[in-house]
Amino acid sequence: MPEQPLRGRHYRTLQPIEVRVAEGMIRAIQPVADQAALPLIAPGLVDLQVNGYAAIDFNHFPFSVDEVAQVTRELWRQGVTTFMPTVITADSDVIEQAVKTLAEACEEHPEVARAVCGIHLEGPFLSPEDGPRGAHPRAHIKAPDAQLFRRWQAAAGGRITLLTLSPEWPTAPDFIRTLTAMGVVVSLGHTAATPEQIITAVEAGARMSTHLGNGAHLQLPRHPNYIWQQLAQDELACALIADGDHLPLSVLKVCMRVKGEQAFLVSDVTRFAGMAAGVYDAPIGGRVRLSENGRLAMAEQPQLLAGSAKGLFHGVNHLVHHALAPLPQALEMASIRPARQMGLPSQQGLNIGAPADLILLTPSNTHGLTLTATWKAGRKVWG
Ligand SMILES: [Zn+2]
Repeated sequence: MPEQPLRGRHYRTLQPIEVRVAEGMIRAIQPVADQAALPLIAPGLVDLQVNGYAAIDFNHFPFSVDEVAQVTRELWRQGVTTFMPTVITADSDVIEQAVKTLAEACEEHPEVARAVCGIHLEGPFLSPEDGPRGAHPRAHIKAPDAQLFRRWQAAAGGRITLLTLSPEWPTAPDFIRTLTAMGVVVSLGHTAATPEQIITAVEAGARMSTHLGNGAHLQLPRHPNYIWQQLAQDELACALIADGDHLPLSVLKVCMRVKGEQAFLVSDVTRFAGMAAGVYDAPIGGRVRLSENGRLAMAEQPQLLAGSAKGLFHGVNHLVHHALAPLPQALEMASIRPARQMGLPSQQGLNIGAPADLILLTPSNTHGLTLTATWKAGRKVWG
């Protein structure tokens, strides 16, 4: 049975188009007669850092394979068609169980397999220092260990494709070379590294900065420091959290200008997304406070953020609302650009031959753009 074509305005050109899909792919894009109320049509969003959603937490083991499927469906409502479940620092056995369950979810649920483009392991090879460490538990922070990584990668069925580490460990360069040779993208984050250590990590193959400007000391030497150095390394793409709490507009703007096409958005969204304001006992890092405006911070140290409670689409609207990026660029920072960093087919965007992962959007006067529908692999999954 031929699938229903989608009609909308191309998010870049604003031309009215009809998109024909078959077998999950975009097969044709044709101009159509203008119609007044056509929504915008854009590539589905790609989020490389999802810790959980709506009370489900990939870092609070046990979680079930069905819960992974539930998060996948929740993310469709946020326009996210591809994501990386993110497992953070924990006891070695807990990490192994978590990545094993995520792998099982991919095997048991076809919609999870289509949405999950890999697992992001954020830790445990991070800085032990307070500040850079963020909410990662000190007790489980350790030096890079390739044997341990191989154990987790075996449990994950090879699905760990992104690893965040701090290059301040003496063994980091060798470890980065090993992972890069295995095809794992190495990203720098939660680090107190010296500029020299960052340069060495880049030479060893590190290619990304994890939520640059966060997971850092509250106070730093003015220069040099690890933020300047990562900005200055052209080889490092730059993941940014644009939820309005994690980075001031000036920092977002400078990172975007310096990194150009290499700057992209992640949400770092946690289980607290979609929950009511209040104080909660978080399984990692202690008590957290979710405020009415969606800011998520450590309850006892409110200056320290504890991840985000706002989805990736919020970041798109944040950039547009504050004129940091025109709409097409803001959308691509949350879709094509992160897909490119991970070498995904969806980096082709709204073009023939690309996966039919698409979102429909309508402008609203109060909240910027509103999502109205999400299509995954040629099938309408929400809206
Ligand atoms: Zn982090």
